[in-house]
Amino acid sequence: MFYGGEPLLNPDVVKHAVSYIRKNDTNGVCKITMFTNATVITREMAEFLANNDVFVIVSMDGPAEIHDQMRCYANGQGGFEDTAKGYDTCKDAGCRLGISMVLGRHNIPELKEAVEYLINRFEPIDLGFSTLHLHQHGDNPAFVDIRLLTEEMIDTFRFIREKGVYAEHLFRRIRPFVEQQLRLKDCPSCGGKFLVTPDKSIGFCEAFLGTGHYYYPLESFDLSNEGYNEWKGISPVRREECLRCPSIAICGGGCPYDAWVQHGSINSLDTIRCQQSNILLEWLIWDLFDQIKGEIKEPLDIVIPEPAQRQRIYSNVNTTDEKLPLNSYSKYGEGA
Ligand code: SF4
Ligand code: SF4
Repeated sequence: MFYGGEPLLNPDVVKHAVSYIRKNDTNGVCKITMFTNATVITREMAEFLANNDVFVIVSMDGPAEIHDQMRCYANGQGGFEDTAKGYDTCKDAGCRLGISMVLGRHNIPELKEAVEYLINRFEPIDLGFSTLHLHQHGDNPAFVDIRLLTEEMIDTFRFIREKGVYAEHLFRRIRPFVEQQLRLKDCPSCGGKFLVTPDKSIGFCEAFLGTGHYYYPLESFDLSNEGYNEWKGISPVRREECLRCPSIAICGGGCPYDAWVQHGSINSLDTIRCQQSNILLEWLIWDLFDQIKGEIKEPLDIVIPEPAQRQRIYSNVNTTDEKLPLNSYSKYGEGA
């Protein structure tokens, strides 16, 4: 995954790295995804990305009047127009494209309308819904109430599942519930992801960049690294306070960075995502009931839903489509 900041501010490094991967990945196992705001993308770069099967995920938060509230240039001018142009350039060049949204006070409570616009205008095959992370020092002014945010996500999901659009982040909770698989980790940073920075450090989570924690010199790093093993060990099944929680099978333990900001340890509870997981679990149970209630004959019947009945929660979304981005990333820690 290439992300920044904005990876395309250094197109030569992107080209070099992508070419290197494609040349050396003789078995074709590497999937490359790039997060970009698409404002500086050229036709030549778009063709390069398409030819090298790089999945392009463009950051967009809604139509211009929403997007430009948060995503603007240093002079305050909104970036939507350039982002939309860059998206269209990639589409014309044949790139596979998704959209990544960050949810905050600019697009909540009208998330569904914003998503409807993005789907109709851009036709992405994947949508990401990122919940904002906490600020290490002071409040994040864009934060909205987590219950309101999660209910908006659910309402929006009801709409996008009919459209067949995959929603990364939400499926990390939905899929374990539907497939009856335990999700042991929420984020691949817990043992499945390495992050390499331009100054030759290695770490696991981008939010820790600049904090002075959990980054190590690349040349002396190996898998016996203490920090790596601390991250790798994070899982709700290892926490006493999680063992009686109804969401333990779907939550994966939340975000270690936000847990660290809230409670000073990456192994603490991320209480924001705990609340979110519990709201989602309750909705999943009621949604499943709604999907099958027509087949329940007696009011006092005990019903154990079959896999096909559970999968009705997906509606028109094909969750096994290998062309979706971040497929293995999204499933990290799932199915154990
Ligand atoms: S939702 Fe919170 S309390 Fe429940 S299992 Fe997950 S991390 Fe633990
Ligand atoms: S720990 Fe949290 S902030 Fe860090 S990569 Fe994972 S989800 Fe993102």
